[in-house]
Amino acid sequence: MASAYHSIDLARFALAPGEGHRLDIEADPGPLELGGQRYSVAGDSVPARLDLSRTAAGYAVRMRLTAQISGSCMRCLEAAEAAVEIDAREVDQPGSEDEELRSPYIDGDELDLSSWAHDALALALPIQLVCRPDCKGLCAVCGASLNDVDPAEHRHDPEPDPRWAKLRELKLE
Ligand SMILES: [Zn+2]
Ligand SMILES: [Zn+2]
Repeated sequence: MASAYHSIDLARFALAPGEGHRLDIEADPGPLELGGQRYSVAGDSVPARLDLSRTAAGYAVRMRLTAQISGSCMRCLEAAEAAVEIDAREVDQPGSEDEELRSPYIDGDELDLSSWAHDALALALPIQLVCRPDCKGLCAVCGASLNDVDPAEHRHDPEPDPRWAKLRELKLE
């Protein structure tokens, strides 16, 4: 496997404004950790497709990748494995006052591919990494997996209302 890119010098494509370039490369998202849980990326690096375009004052980049990720299900914490798909865009226009036009991953001609791939995966994990699409998650009261029980039967008595307790005391007097 080709060695993964951490950052890319966009200037080497010598694009004129309006021109674009497609690049198929390996991205290294680094270690993924979320809420104290660690997630591993199969193969460590991920094939990524970048569509670079030179704008009048900077760059616009689209990144697409699919990473095979294993870790615990975001809903029930059981072991899960999923192909997490990313389709993200960044625009960088140096000197712009508009936050939307400043990318944290592009600094001049340098694209920080590792950080971008890492952050995009971390954002996508909570939605995409589930043990199965219809995972019901954990009971908010007792923590039991709702995949293992019949939700119609798994109920908890509502907390007794303290006002009723007071009423009962009154009746006893
Ligand atoms: Zn689950
Ligand atoms: Zn419960």
